[in-house]
Parts: sequence; structure tokens; C-alpha cells
Amino acid sequence: MESQIAVPTLPGVPFRVPPQLEGLRRLAYNLWWTWHPSTRALFSRLDGAAWARYRSPIPLLEGPVRWAEVLEDPDLLAEFQGVLRQFDSYMANGSDHWFRRKYAHALEGPIAYFCAEYGFHESLGIYSGGLGVLAGDHMKSASDMALPLVGVGLLYRKGYFRQTIDADGHQEHAYPDYDLNRLPLLRAADPNGDHLHVTVPLPGRDVHVAVWVAQVGRVPVLLLDTDVAENADADRPITNILYVRGREMRLHQELILGVGGVRAIRALGLAPAVWHLNEGHSAFLLAERAREMVADGETLANALASVKRTSVFTIHTPVSAGNERFDASLVRRIAGPLLDGDERPDTGGVPVDRILELGQAVDGDTTVFDMTAFSLRQSAGANAVSQLHAVTANATWGGVLDRPILGITNGVHGPTWVGRAMAELYRRYLEADLEDLDPQTERRRFWERMSRIPDGDLWRAHQRQKLELAIFARGRLRNQFARHGESPSVLDEVETALDPDILTIGFARRFATYKRAALLFSDMDRLSRLLWDKDRPIQVVFAGKAHPADRPGQRVIQEIFTRSRSAELRGRVFILEDYDMRIARFLVHGVDVWLNNPRRPLEASGTSGMKAAQNGVVNASVLDGWWDEGWTGDNGWAIGGREQDPDEGAQDWADAQDLYRIVEQEILPRYYKRDGSGVPRGWTELMRNAIASAIWRFSTTRMLHEYTEQLYLPAAGLSVAPERGPKAREPIVNEAG
Ligand SMILES: *Cc1c(COP(=O)(O)O)cnc(C)c1O
Repeated sequence: MESQIAVPTLPGVPFRVPPQLEGLRRLAYNLWWTWHPSTRALFSRLDGAAWARYRSPIPLLEGPVRWAEVLEDPDLLAEFQGVLRQFDSYMANGSDHWFRRKYAHALEGPIAYFCAEYGFHESLGIYSGGLGVLAGDHMKSASDMALPLVGVGLLYRKGYFRQTIDADGHQEHAYPDYDLNRLPLLRAADPNGDHLHVTVPLPGRDVHVAVWVAQVGRVPVLLLDTDVAENADADRPITNILYVRGREMRLHQELILGVGGVRAIRALGLAPAVWHLNEGHSAFLLAERAREMVADGETLANALASVKRTSVFTIHTPVSAGNERFDASLVRRIAGPLLDGDERPDTGGVPVDRILELGQAVDGDTTVFDMTAFSLRQSAGANAVSQLHAVTANATWGGVLDRPILGITNGVHGPTWVGRAMAELYRRYLEADLEDLDPQTERRRFWERMSRIPDGDLWRAHQRQKLELAIFARGRLRNQFARHGESPSVLDEVETALDPDILTIGFARRFATYKRAALLFSDMDRLSRLLWDKDRPIQVVFAGKAHPADRPGQRVIQEIFTRSRSAELRGRVFILEDYDMRIARFLVHGVDVWLNNPRRPLEASGTSGMKAAQNGVVNASVLDGWWDEGWTGDNGWAIGGREQDPDEGAQDWADAQDLYRIVEQEILPRYYKRDGSGVPRGWTELMRNAIASAIWRFSTTRMLHEYTEQLYLPAAGLSVAPERGPKAREPIVNEAG
């Protein structure tokens, strides 16, 4: 296995950089900068205003940059050289990495990872939420751990909608139109040094697919784009919008991802050892690979068996209704010719009826093609994304796969999500490098060394991140209020909003109704008393989008918005518009309590609470998803218990009562009890426990260990490495105690 999966690319836009600073181009076109604050600081020093405007290096470097001044600034040049040295050494040292040596040495090809969305950074809007952010974090950790992997996804020029909320609380949708040449992406090159194209046959025509590359550290991610001149007008927008609504268009999208993705990998000469389907959107890759083998003379049965042996699948939604399905007749009409080989009799084919049979619903319904059922039947192994989710997934899908669905709990990429002030503490006192967590040594150290962090330092680092949140949020709120035509006095109030001395609760996620974002408003009198208490006040910050088609979700936004502007709550409840990775970062860095109250067990995992915990933000959450296994009794609070009342209304009421009780009796007394120097020692102890119990256990480093051991190596026909480290998943105990 070569030490680097290299995808040849063409040069990007021809901006001019002084020869001494040529390395900036390398830094700009590798998303490594998204998890290295020193690289972002360097870009910002080149042109602070341009960085603030674009938050992306290419438009900044296109200039005008005052290069003469840069070249005369020895500090800045030294900073540039330092960052570049670090980057070049990261890129060069992959083959020496201990994880790669231990686990990946026998792999004969890379892992091909398919996902419909990726969240790398807010400036690259090709994600909508948790699934994409998880995939982005998976790529970044694979890079850090030097796991040979190539990602495949779609390049959405119009991405996901940008949200504003009008003065009546209605969510408004706007689709951006990205200029792909100004994003940190390069076109893949074919062997002649031309733009690489692949084609996907749809009825009556070949759709051309351009292949772009997002280089994520050591990991290339291929992004497919149909918006090219060779295509008919009706085909160009196939990949424009995330999760396009029309069923036929969505099917086209998923054929481009699955079939086009396989063809792009082949065109680049890559030979994956294992194919990982992250959610069912890419399931047609399974059919395409079988078709290839049949075209090469293999029998259908052998081809399907061989595809199955080397494929693994991750399921992300607990309820079967949340999974992608198409009418079987639509699949027959659109994908039939491509698979059957009717259009190209010379290539042999896979009867579409066989594929439809493998994709029939769990209840035996043959009029639908169920992407999840198909993926499960055609995979050697599958996993759910938390231990609790594995239980519900096996109950729903049991028997579809010939073995149990494993539980591999999600994680988050620490370098992406931990704020600078906290990361600095971890480096100093834990001697922990979030980019390179070693399970054998680091975990024990966390627990032992956590107590070395002085309470005052921990508290000050937290308060610093909290102040950054306040400053950011005030700016956003000022714009929002001004757009709504609020009076100057209201605008003035914003200047002092989000006082960092007040207990701050954060709630940010997709506004699907099962998430019950408005639960806190169940008893308005009680809430209002709590928020405005003279000695122990509370403020709450909300953010989140509702899917454009989700009217009930949009009504929840309207309710929260209206309340945030009501006489009773104005100044204590805030809602930030256009939730994205940037807002997520500010919130998980800087609130005190992270609130999550979905209706159990509908949250498969959730990851924002993990991001919060890694920053010392304390979770108060329903025992759903990751928190069902993450709660230790001393690292936060469990809202409600593990029993569900079949009467939803009764369950909601009981959970709301428990939430108020936790706030009144547990959170407030601990938070506001200060020692002589103003430090809440009871609270910093909780923060310590939150950090220690999340930093390894809910990291993508731990998660990738498990994917590698439990899914990737077995699917590659390799046994798990002989001398393995401690089991990645163990009960959380204070290992120092
Ligand atoms: C982390 C993240 C999510 C996922 O959060 P949940 O816990 O699943 O709600 C969604 N959106 C953004 C922008 C994120 O950063």
C-alpha cells in the first residue's frame, strides 16, 4: 500500500504569489487549514478584512494583497515558514504513523468512503447537518491517523439553504451560488493532463460528471459535479442542491453519487480494498460494482457475493420512515437500462429486477426500492451510530442483514471543535495533542492530569470562550434586529446582551419536531421567574434550521422567535440565524450548559453535545443517542429516565418538569456558588468530568479505531492486528481513581 493516496489535479485559478511565498498555494488548497488555527491566523495576517469577509483563502490570495509589505515583515515571514514546515512535515510523515503501521500495513488498497454530504468548514457549503459534519470529521481523523482512504461525494453549487428569519418569525430560504473556482477545490486530471470526466448513462443520454478534489490533509475527497457545458440544461442542476426534493431528480443524484463515484475511482486508477457506504444515498455503488464484474465475465451470483464481501454500511436514522425509498417502477425506468445493459448490450448487465428484489422493504413490499434495506443486504457488516441506536436498529432491521448491526458510536474531531483557550490548557497540563490521541497512553493521562489544571485556569479559559461567543452573537443579533427595523434603543440593548456572568444555556440543532426545541417553554411563568431571577439569572441561545419542507419544524422556530421578542423574555432568550459550523463552534465553545431534549429514542447519536463536552460545557440531555452511554452520573445531567410513556403529551410534560427541576435544584446552585476568587469550584469539577469522559471516548480517533477493527479490516479479509491496544470502548470509569 502506497504511503499516500494521490489524486492528480490541475492547477487552480492563476493568482500571483511572490516566489518566496509560493507555499501559500499549498496551504490554501489543502483543507488542513480548517483544523489548524495557526494557518488561519496566517491568512488573516495577510489581509484581515478579506479573511473576515470570505473566511476562505483563495479569494483572499487572489488579492489585491500588499505583497511588498508582507515581504518586508520578518515576523510574518517567520510565521509563514513555521506553518509551512509543519504542514509539509505532516504531509510527508503519513507512512510512519503508528496507527497506519499497526492497522493499515496489510491493506491492499484504500478504503473508499461514500457520503452524500461533507461538513469540512462553513465556507464550503456542501453539508446540511450532523451526517455531513460526521463525514467531515471522519475524513480529518483518517488524515491525522494516516488511514489510507478516499472520500466520494457530490459538489453542490447551491449547497444547502441559508436561513434568515423575518420579523414575524418565518424562516426564509436563500440558496447561494458558489463560484467553485474560488473554493479550495481543484479539478482532477486525467492521464493526458486534461479535466477528468466520467459519464453515467441515464435513459437516452450520457450525463457528464466533472470530478473535483477536496484535499483534506492526506485524504482526497472526490466531489462530483454535473453542472458542466456538455450536459443538457435539464441535467446540469442534478448536483446543484443538497437532497433535492423531486423524486426523479433525487434518484438521478444518487445514481451520480453511487455509479459516478465508482467510475471516478476507476478512472483515477484507485483500487479500494473496502467500500464504506455512510448512509444509503450511495447504494447504487453496490449495483455498479456488480455490473462491472459481470461485464468482465463474472457470474451474477459471484459478482454480488464479491461486492457484498467488501462493503460495509453505516445506518444513521432510527426509524424506518427516515430512510430513503424510491418507487420500484421509477428505479426500473431510470436505472434499468444502465444496470441491465440494454443500452450497452456489449457490457453485460445486472438484471434490475434482481437489484429491486435486494432492495425490497423489510415488510416485503416489492413496490418500493429501499436504499437502506438494499445496503444492508449487500454489505458484509453494518453499524449503527450509538449503542442505544444499535438496539433500535436491530429491532427495526433485524434479519435483513445476516448478522447483528454493530454499535460504533459517533465521535467528533477535537482539533476542529475544541476552542483555542481550552486546547491550550490540554496541551499544557494534559500533554495531549488532540490531533494524535494514543489510546494506550493518553486516556489514563487525561484522568490523572485533569486534576493538574488549576480551577482558576479552567474557569478563565471557559470565560474567555464565552466572551468570544457573546461578541460574535451581539454582531449577529445587531444585524438581525436592524433588518427587522427595531428601534435604536433595542439595538442598544444588544450591545450588552449575553453577559458572560450569566448562566448561559445553548440549544442548537435541526428543528425537527421530535427534538422538542420548545420544551423549555412548557411553563412560561416558571421559566420567566428563572430567567429574570435577580441573583441567579439565566439566558438561553437557540440556533437551527428547519428543512424547507418541514412546516411543523418552521412553526417551532416561529414560536421561539416570537417568545425571544416578547416583553417577558426579550433580553434573556435569543435566536441566531443561519446555523452552520461557525455558529456551532461559537456555541459549543462558549455556553455553560448544552441542552438536548429529543423524544427518546429518536436521536440516533447526536454529536453537538460531544463537541460541547470536549470544551468543558456541561450536558443536560435526555438519555438518548450518545448521552445514554456518555452520562456517568457526575459529568452532567440526565433529563427523565429510560422509560417512555406511550402518551407523548404525558412524556413531554414529565420531561419538562424534570428539566425545570434540574435547572433549579442542580444547575443554579452549583453554577452560582463561588469561592473567594470568584471561581465556581463545584462547576469546574463538573467541567473536568465532562472533558475527561469525552475527550477520547467521543473522539473520531476512537471511532476510527472501531471502524478499522470491526468493519474495515474484516471486510478486507484481514484479521485484526495481533497486539491490539486496550479495547476502544470500555465503561467510563475514573481511571486515575
Ligand atoms: C455538530 C453539528 C450538527 C449535529 O449536531 P446534533 O447533535 O446531531 O444536533 C449539526 N449541524 C452543525 C452545523 C453541526 O456543527
